[in-house]
Amino acid sequence: MADALEELRSWQRPLRAQFPIIVANPELAYLDSAATAQKPQAVLDAVQHYLATSNANAGRGSYPWANATTAAVERARDRVKRFLGDPAPDHSSVHFTSGASEGLRTVARDWLADRLADGDEVVVPFADHEANLAPWLEVRELLARQGVKIRVRELPYQDGSGDYDPAALAASVGPRTRFVAATHVHHVYGVDMNVHRIRRVVGPDVPICLDAAQSIGHLPFSVAELDVDFVVFSGHKAMALPGTGAVWARGRRGPRFRPGGWAGTPNTVGIASLAAALDWLDAAGTDRIEAWTVALAARLTDGLSRLDAYEVLGCRSSLAADSEVQRRRSIVAFRHRDIPSRDLGFILYSHGFMVRSDGHCQAGAAESDGSVRVSLHVHNTAEEVEKLLGTLTNLQ
Ligand code: PLP
Repeated sequence: MADALEELRSWQRPLRAQFPIIVANPELAYLDSAATAQKPQAVLDAVQHYLATSNANAGRGSYPWANATTAAVERARDRVKRFLGDPAPDHSSVHFTSGASEGLRTVARDWLADRLADGDEVVVPFADHEANLAPWLEVRELLARQGVKIRVRELPYQDGSGDYDPAALAASVGPRTRFVAATHVHHVYGVDMNVHRIRRVVGPDVPICLDAAQSIGHLPFSVAELDVDFVVFSGHKAMALPGTGAVWARGRRGPRFRPGGWAGTPNTVGIASLAAALDWLDAAGTDRIEAWTVALAARLTDGLSRLDAYEVLGCRSSLAADSEVQRRRSIVAFRHRDIPSRDLGFILYSHGFMVRSDGHCQAGAAESDGSVRVSLHVHNTAEEVEKLLGTLTNLQ
């Protein structure tokens, strides 16, 4: 792991220098990228350029600025498809949203609800982000009001690794299974949930919706490899502006995804920022971003595991990268034996560390059950992690 950091140091340094807010605050360490990511200069420039040269509404008007905006939105759709490694872009669609929560709700209300009949079953995660549970439960309620009874089953987890459990999933899947929702990387445990194994269990015909809020921008992504039907993500966690997100829909199993209702004016500035952010991430190299942040998270996990006062949540192994099932990415959540997590969050900020400390919107987690979450991105450094470990050691 240390080798990976050493090897990538000269690649990482100029990238860090491209984040104005990071450069302007050398005494602070931003360790909350899982909540929202900081933006590189290229994204700020793209926003400025768009507003200064062609700001207009999209899909309306026939003058050059309107045409340029419409074209930029269409280009952004193609950009998302390319970023996701879409093997058949002519058969897929991209719908822009305000974030992953709206994206998941849109799939639930505008796609899934119309396709379920009495007795059908859906399999969804019960201990991931609330945004990936609430919409499916709402569908059940919506249909119940119309006299249609569906069953919501839990996507089972594997003890110890925090991963999904394919064997237990096989027992939950039957002839009435119509849909599976899953999460790519867990927002508290930081585990890559090995979702590529779900397709093998559910067979070729069951649509799978993937919440990729914590993976887009953090690792190379391939819808072809994952073989899912929907990919929902937050643009703002992938370095685009706040209020951005997208739903990619394969459109192979069942009719195309066409969210209903009058869409209104799209967030053209946000969409322009998303295209620029994906350009930036591709140019930086998501494989290297992954290697860098996995190495930093591994260092933090290892360091914490040696401190008796702390409990690391989820998969403890930092050797996760070469293991079949245990794969920590860029998120490390932990608790102190005596200091409540919220207090620890304040204490850490007094030392310059910006972390998140609460229940992290995890479905089913009581607020009292909170933890401190450190989430890393490409601008973070080994020095920040060492300094954090030093502070945590002193707080034992
Ligand atoms: N899904 C996961 C795994 C998340 O981590 C988050 C945000 O923290 C969301 C969904 C919701 O994303 P958004 O804030 O873009 O609605």
